[in-house]
Amino acid sequence: VSARLPRYRCGGCGRLIDPAVQVWRCPACGGLLVLEPAGASFPLASIRDRPTTLWRYREALPFDAGSDAPGRVTMGEGFTPVVTVTLGDAPVLAKVEFASPTLSFKDRGAAVLIAAAVELGATEVVADSSGNAGAAIAAYAARAGLAATVFVAATASPVKLAQIAAHGAEARTVDGDRESVGRAAREEVESRGAFYASHVHNPYFHQGTKTFVFEVWEQLGGRMPDVLVLPVGNGTLLLGAWLGLGELYSAEAISAVPRLVAVQAAGCAPVAQAWALGAGDVEPVVGAGTVAEGIAIAAPARGAEILAAVRDSGGEVVTITDEEIVAAGRELAGQGLYLEPTAAATAAGARRWIEQQGAGGADVLIPLCGAGLKGAAATTQVH
Ligand SMILES: [Zn+2]
Repeated sequence: VSARLPRYRCGGCGRLIDPAVQVWRCPACGGLLVLEPAGASFPLASIRDRPTTLWRYREALPFDAGSDAPGRVTMGEGFTPVVTVTLGDAPVLAKVEFASPTLSFKDRGAAVLIAAAVELGATEVVADSSGNAGAAIAAYAARAGLAATVFVAATASPVKLAQIAAHGAEARTVDGDRESVGRAAREEVESRGAFYASHVHNPYFHQGTKTFVFEVWEQLGGRMPDVLVLPVGNGTLLLGAWLGLGELYSAEAISAVPRLVAVQAAGCAPVAQAWALGAGDVEPVVGAGTVAEGIAIAAPARGAEILAAVRDSGGEVVTITDEEIVAAGRELAGQGLYLEPTAAATAAGARRWIEQQGAGGADVLIPLCGAGLKGAAATTQVH
């Protein structure tokens, strides 16, 4: 069954590994896996005739034309609208990612990841999440008829916990930090031999999030903006975007890649700290806490990949305070767009970057990653 999926490559030792239900890291060195490139193409004339979902870029997705897995999982995810918003005095393009089946951009990764699990013949999946990825995995697992166990921090938004449970997944809360939650999930994966539906470790998640930039390219008439401002915790959207930009560039669909500006919350900013030091990898920090729970990742496993992507794009890392996050959330709610704090953090980062650069006329696009209703507990504190 798995022969129809591309092989993994270990980022540590370079070994090629056949995909299988139980494989989520290199069996030899424990390294992080990426997917072997399969030669993406973007036949726009054909793409335009297809349904407006992320699956319209099928020549760039790692599934055989005969696979029924995408059809078994899809809920119409992708092709979210692009609108113009104002940050300070600056007009900025905003892609409304919360207009997704489970109200966050994580549906992109979850749809493709669960389709891969189906293709591999998995019957159950295990995930860990600050909330939104867990909700997306729970929903798509339910859609595909797979059992799901999702580990979340005891401090996660009650709304997200309720969402996970509503889909029939077993939500297991773990006391401690985000890293403790991940460890608990991996122990479960190893003991059960289950498919690890991790948005950090499993490279299929980035195969989904990369479609974000394909859509931007198509929706802007075959071009990319100069700057993409993206939130960074584990970097699931930024790494997917970088992967997708590389595929668009290799296929000669674009002649230059945008600068990637990564946004971190001051209360938990290990990537920003490494960036300031000019380091090649990220050292864990002890976070002071932030309202942006979705990017409060003290030890991002793919930190080195995040730093390399930002550096290679000519971008940078900006840090914003909770006060700026709250202010940006109010600013966008005042324009009709109600965001959870983690999503407002991206807008705050874009505003900060534009002000720092004096770049009021810059060609900038931000994602609006998660709906305001998702973070009900956190937003209640700020009104
Ligand atoms: Zn290895």
